[in-house]
Parts: sequence; C-alpha cells; structure tokens
Amino acid sequence: MNILVCGGAGYIGSHTVYELIEQGHSVVVIDNLCKGHKKAVHKEAKLYVGDLRDSLFLDKVFEENKIDAVIDFAAYSLVGESCSEPLMYFENNVFGTIKLLEAMKKANVKKIVFSSTAATYGEPENIPIDEKEKNVPTNPYGESKLMVEKVLKWCDKAYGIKYICLRYFNAAGAYKTGEIGEDHFPETHLIPIILQVALGKREEISIFGEDYNTKDGTCVRDYIHVTDLASAHIKAIEKLFKDEVSGIYNLGNGTGFSVKEVIECARKVTQREIKAKICERRPGDPSTLIASSKKAIEELKWQPKFNCLEQIIESAWKWHLNHPNGYED
Ligand code: UDP
Repeated sequence: MNILVCGGAGYIGSHTVYELIEQGHSVVVIDNLCKGHKKAVHKEAKLYVGDLRDSLFLDKVFEENKIDAVIDFAAYSLVGESCSEPLMYFENNVFGTIKLLEAMKKANVKKIVFSSTAATYGEPENIPIDEKEKNVPTNPYGESKLMVEKVLKWCDKAYGIKYICLRYFNAAGAYKTGEIGEDHFPETHLIPIILQVALGKREEISIFGEDYNTKDGTCVRDYIHVTDLASAHIKAIEKLFKDEVSGIYNLGNGTGFSVKEVIECARKVTQREIKAKICERRPGDPSTLIASSKKAIEELKWQPKFNCLEQIIESAWKWHLNHPNGYED
C-alpha cells in the first residue's frame, strides 16, 4: 500500500515509517521539520517538507502520489508547554488536522489512523483505563487531541472517512537497529532526561511532585515501546481496509511505574548513579495513567513485544549511548 505519514520525521512517526517499509509498504512523509529530524526519515520514504496548515502544499502531495491511507502524527505534544501556550496547540493540532482532512476529502482518500493520547482521559476514575472512561482532559494537549477525535467522528458520518484513533500511553525506547530513537529539543520526557543524567549531560533529574495519591507519592505511568506503537498503526490500517469501521483504541502495557521506580530501573540498566531531587508538581499532570489495551489486543490483533520496563529502558539507553547528541552526531 501507499501510505502518507504526516509527522514522519518525529519520534513515533519515524519508527512507524521504518516498520511500514520493513513490511513492504511505500511511504510518503510530510513533515515541517520544526520538531522532527530529516535524518530520522527512512531513505526509502519520499519526504515532502511542508506544513499541514498549507492547503496548496497538501493538495500537491495528494496530486503527485496515489495515497491509500494516511497516518497523522503531526502535532505538538508537550503537556507543560500546552498549558502555557494553549492557542499554539489548538492552532497546530486541531486546525492542521482539519486541513489534512479537507485535502483527503478532495483527493478521495477515505482512511486515516490518528495519533491520540491517554491525556484525553484527564484524571481517570477507573484504573486500568479502558476506552469507555470519561474524557475530561487536564491540559490543552489532551483537549486538542480529543477535539480532533470529535472532528473525525463527524467526518466519518458526513464523508465516509473511516478512522482509527490510537490513544498512546507513554512512548519510550528506540529502533532495534540503533538508526533512530528519541530526540526532542527541549527534552521534557522522563526516560530520556533520566538517561541524559546517566550520560553526565545533566546534573540531576527533577521529580515533579511527591505528594500524589500513588504508591510512593510520585506519578504513575504506563510505558510502551515505540516499535510496539508503530506496529499498532499497521494493524490499524489493516483493520480499516478489512472492516471499514472506525474506532478508538488504547495502547499501553497495562502496568504502571512511578517516577521513582523508573529512575531506579534506569540505575540498574545503566549501572550509573542518577541523582534525583524532589520538585513542585508540573501543571496538567494526572497522578496515574495505566491502560487497558484489551480492545486493541482483541480487535486489532495487536500484541506488545516489549512488556517489561527494563527492556524498554535498555533499548532507549542503547540509542542514547550511541547518540549522546541525538541526530546531531
Ligand atoms: N516527570 C518528572 N520529571 C521530569 C519529566 C517528567 O518527574 O523531568 C514526570 C512527569 O511529571 C510525569 C512522568 O514523569 O508524571 C512522565 O512524564 P513525561 O513528560 O515523560 O510524559 P507525559 O506523561 O507527560 O506524557
């Protein structure tokens, strides 16, 4: 199949492109390279550098390529930043995807896999979280993704565009060959920051809050390997072609680790001292997010391969050791 991957130079996007190509698909990538890295784009993918908010650009991509389905990762994704810059998030994440859907409608492309998030749930009432949990986002990032999910629902009804929204829990790890991995600037995510401390690139890791209602007072998250996320997108495309039914799926391992547990596990994996200090809570952070991915396992026939935190951190560590400056090396 010919798949258009928007945001294919970003972290999860680039891993999905590698996985798609490995499975024999042809890939067209759109990325504005404002967060993504040109070096992260697979050599066999056809890269268009441009922005989803530019309709003329999008029309050109759809005119020049016969696209069977779209996977959309192109978005800002930092919880903290979204709280201080909500308009920036709604403009890029919501308006950008609306423009993409307009171009798809024009080009008669009727299938999309959308990159959503556990942040759509906010502070959940039930753990593990299944897809029936209420959506009350506690930050503009989660709200922007939920808004797009709603836009997609109406586009399905009106135009027959079938969609699958994948609500990721916490992505981590790197590609098996060591060619691509996680590289954000500024880095705000827990595991890469911990590993930067292990590398001596940072003095210490700040633990954001020790007064949450969790096992040790620090936030609990469900960490899922990035290639497991990537494989779910391919399963989602297959499902869209097979059943022509839209749906929403959680993707996680179903186990929660506190910030302190993640730090401890990283100390074990890296065999290095990793200094930590307790700081204030970060605005917008829910205390506990753990997925029930039962629906994805049953309906998408998806199965995560990396189901232990140590393996996930090992995979990330390998990337960081070999690329201490990310793609700049
Ligand atoms: N976190 C932390 N220190 C950091 C970065 C993150 O204590 O320097 C915590 C954060 O508050 C959250 C968890 O680690 O509870 C995971 O945060 P991350 O930014 O990696 O992902 P998010 O859950 O926001 O998608």
